[in-house]
Amino acid sequence: MSAGATGKTNTAGLEFEVRPNPRPTPPDERAALLVNPGFGRIFTDHMVTIRYSDTKGWYDARLEPYGPISLSPATAALHYAQEIFEGLKAYHSPDGGITLFRPEANARRMQLTCDRMAMPRLPEEEFLTAVRLLVERDREWIPTQEGGSLYIRPFMFATEVFLGVKPSSEYLFCVIASPAGSYFAGGVQPVDVWVSAEYTRAAPGGTGAAKCAGNYASSLVAQAEAIEAGCDQVVFLDAVERRYVDELGGMNVFSVYGDGDDVTLVTPPLAGTILPGITRESVLALAGQFGWRVEERQYAVDEWQADAESGLLRESFACGTAAVVTPIGRVRGADLDFTIGGGAEGPVTRRLRETLLDIQHGRVEDTHGWVHRL
Ligand code: PMP
Repeated sequence: MSAGATGKTNTAGLEFEVRPNPRPTPPDERAALLVNPGFGRIFTDHMVTIRYSDTKGWYDARLEPYGPISLSPATAALHYAQEIFEGLKAYHSPDGGITLFRPEANARRMQLTCDRMAMPRLPEEEFLTAVRLLVERDREWIPTQEGGSLYIRPFMFATEVFLGVKPSSEYLFCVIASPAGSYFAGGVQPVDVWVSAEYTRAAPGGTGAAKCAGNYASSLVAQAEAIEAGCDQVVFLDAVERRYVDELGGMNVFSVYGDGDDVTLVTPPLAGTILPGITRESVLALAGQFGWRVEERQYAVDEWQADAESGLLRESFACGTAAVVTPIGRVRGADLDFTIGGGAEGPVTRRLRETLLDIQHGRVEDTHGWVHRL
């Protein structure tokens, strides 16, 4: 039974009630689904839920069958968008175990998002327990093919039934999981990106650094414009001068100068308008390990273009949980069109991706303490 929740955020030792799915997906059906799972359309047999109220704190933690959640039409999240989420992956490792990549970083980022969205923080310990319980229970859903993973989606939203603009007094935290095929099926393809001249993602003082649903809702029209133009992802510029690269619709961005041992990575700083990507932070750590220089600084789209055209810029890449590290081949926009590094993947991008994938899949020693083994 659930127990132990007192006060607003202190819930150490919350007990999870386990209610196994009485009708899990039959193994042959599951195997068929896992052959080519795509992304985000198939879900495992279970989910974790934890409730919160201002009076009880966190309570009623359970692992239960995956299924619909019934909500009043006046549920606050449906009106004022207090909804936040996270994304991380579990992988098979060659020793038959399971690895999770930096889940505590997701737990901490969710807490920062909670602060910005006037939501109560879920303690890191409960977040990690929720993720582990679900992955262990549904471990058969982790694809075994090269590059496959189980995408884990923790999220939390306002459940108070009240039409008023104020922080909700009740929330539901939930974790679901979805098997994902290789992002690189058919090899690594450089992505083309579209610089949005009309739309921005985040202004200083806004919610750019938070992983809240509203950021994504407002990005969709810009992302649709990118797709319409034949590109894969939108590039957002800063909202003040419309000059500096912020990030892509769902990934952080890096540029690579120099070669051999003399490499410098340039990436926009965490100044409140971009998401502090966990892959971004990992790339910065690997760069330090490789002896490369790193510049976290404003990076003008003019500089990007001039350096790509002069050949000074060797590579650019996008990074995030879904695509790990993916080369950017071409940059386009209303009056922009330039190719980077001949439109092919460069050695710095490849080394970073391969190193990260090896660590994430538990194929090499993890000297950073990033991998949790289950
Ligand atoms: N920026 C945005 C807007 C994103 O949605 C994501 C994906 N979470 C990222 C960057 C990359 O973050 P991470 O490396 O933590 O997946």
